[in-house]
Amino acid sequence: MPQTPTQTEYEAVIGLEIHVQLRTQSKLFCPDSTRFGDEPNVNTCPVCLGYPGALPVLNKKAVEYAVMLGLALNCEIAELSKFDRKHYFYPDLPKAYQISQYNMPVCTNGYMELSTGTRVRINRAHMEEDAGKLVHAGAEGLAGSDYSLVDLNRAGTPLLEIVSEPDIKSAAEAREYMTNMRNIVRYLGVCDGNMEEGSMRCDVNISVRPKGQTEFGTKTEIKNMNSTRAIEQAAEYEIARQVQILESGGSITQASRLWNEATSETMLMRVKEGEADYRYFPEPDLRPLHISREWIEALKRQLPELPEERRARYISELDFSTHDASILVDVKELGDFFDAARPHCPHYKTLVNWLTGEITAYLKTEKKSMADTRLTPNALAELVELQENNTISSTTAKKLLAELLEKGGSPAKIVEERDMAQISDVGELKKMVEDVIANNPKQAQQFRDGKEQVLGFFVGQIMRATQGSANPELVNQLLRELI
Ligand SMILES: [Zn+2]
Repeated sequence: MPQTPTQTEYEAVIGLEIHVQLRTQSKLFCPDSTRFGDEPNVNTCPVCLGYPGALPVLNKKAVEYAVMLGLALNCEIAELSKFDRKHYFYPDLPKAYQISQYNMPVCTNGYMELSTGTRVRINRAHMEEDAGKLVHAGAEGLAGSDYSLVDLNRAGTPLLEIVSEPDIKSAAEAREYMTNMRNIVRYLGVCDGNMEEGSMRCDVNISVRPKGQTEFGTKTEIKNMNSTRAIEQAAEYEIARQVQILESGGSITQASRLWNEATSETMLMRVKEGEADYRYFPEPDLRPLHISREWIEALKRQLPELPEERRARYISELDFSTHDASILVDVKELGDFFDAARPHCPHYKTLVNWLTGEITAYLKTEKKSMADTRLTPNALAELVELQENNTISSTTAKKLLAELLEKGGSPAKIVEERDMAQISDVGELKKMVEDVIANNPKQAQQFRDGKEQVLGFFVGQIMRATQGSANPELVNQLLRELI
C-alpha cells in the first residue's frame, strides 16, 4: 500500500549578519586612507601591518558613524563599551587576531519594522576592523589557483557588524530588510551601500521547522551575496533545499555555504567553527570606550530624515502611491531631486511621473546616476510648468527632456529660441484640419459612418505636419466640429 504523502508545512527562520564598511577617511586604528582601488599595499603602516609595539588609536569619526547607525536602528547606545581580540589565523590577517567587540558592543536591542508588519529585532551592532584581501592568480577562488597574493589596503578599515534576531520569515522579507538597511546607511552617509564592491556584506542564517514547532531547526549560513536580489534567491533556494532534505528523512548539517550566482545554488564551504575557538579577550592596547549622553544627544539631533520618514511624508502628506514613494525612497538621489524641484513646481504629481517614468528608464538604460546627467531640479520644474500650461505638447516635453538630460539648459529658453511652443492658435489649426479632411475624403466618410477610430488617423496626420507641436486636444475638438 502506498504511503500517504506527508502533510507537514514548514516555516523559515532567518537572521542576517550585515557588515557595513563605515565611510571614514582613515582606518579604525591608524591614519591610513580607506580609499578603494589603490595600488596594493600602499595604504599600510606598522599598526595595520601588525608590527610588534605599534599601538592602535581609535578613530572618533568611526565611533560617531556607529552611534548614528545604532540610533537609526532604534538601538540602545552603550555609554561604556570595550574592544576585544578575536583570534584566528589567515594570511590576510597579519596580527593573527582581529580587534572587535565581544561582550560589550556599542549598540544593542534595536529593531526595524518591515512593510509586512514583521518587527525584526536587532540583537547588537559592534565595531570591528576589516581584514585584508587575498588575490588568487590563475583561478576564480583559492582552489586551482597557481599562487595567492595579499593586499592589506583594506586591513583595519572600520566595520559595523549588525546582528539581527531570527525574526525574518521569508526570502522576500530578508531582501526588504537588506534594502532598508542599505537605504539607511546611504541616508546617514555612513557607508556608500555598494554591495558589489563589498562595502556592505551580508551572511544569511537560515533554518526551517514544521509550522507550530517552537524549537529551531539546524541552521546553515550563506555567504557571498553581492546584491539584494541574490539574497532573496539564495534564501529561497536554501529554504527549499532544507525542506526537501527533511521531507526525505535526512538531517541538516550546520555549515557555511556559498551562494553561486552562476548556477543559482548554494554550495558547501566549511563546517562551522565554535565561538570558543576564537579565544576572545579584552584588547589591552585600547582603553574602554566612553560615549557621553551629551555626545549621543548631539548626534541624535544631527540625524537626517530617514528612509521611513521620507516614505511616510510622501504617502501621507503628498498622497503618493506606495510604488512611486518606494522609487523615490529607494533611490535617494531621485527623492533628493524631487525635494529640490518641488518648491518651484505646483504640479508636483507630474514631476513625480517624470522622475519615476522617463527619467528612471533613462538612468537604467544609460547606466547613469542622476549626478551624471545635466538636468537640474529647476530645469525639470520649468519643463513641467511648460507642459502643464500647454505651452508645449507632451511629445515636445519628452524630446526636450532627453536633451536636458544630455546637454542641460533652460527649457523655457530652448522653447523660445527654437519656436517649439505648441500651436494652440485656433485659426492656424482650423486651416490645417480643413486641408487634411479635404485631402482624405474616404476616411472622412468612414468617420461620418460611425467609425470612431479613424479620428486617430487624422490626429496623426496633423501631428506629423506640425512635427508634434499641435495641441492634441484642440485638434481633436476641431476635427469633430469640421468633419
Ligand atoms: Zn595603518
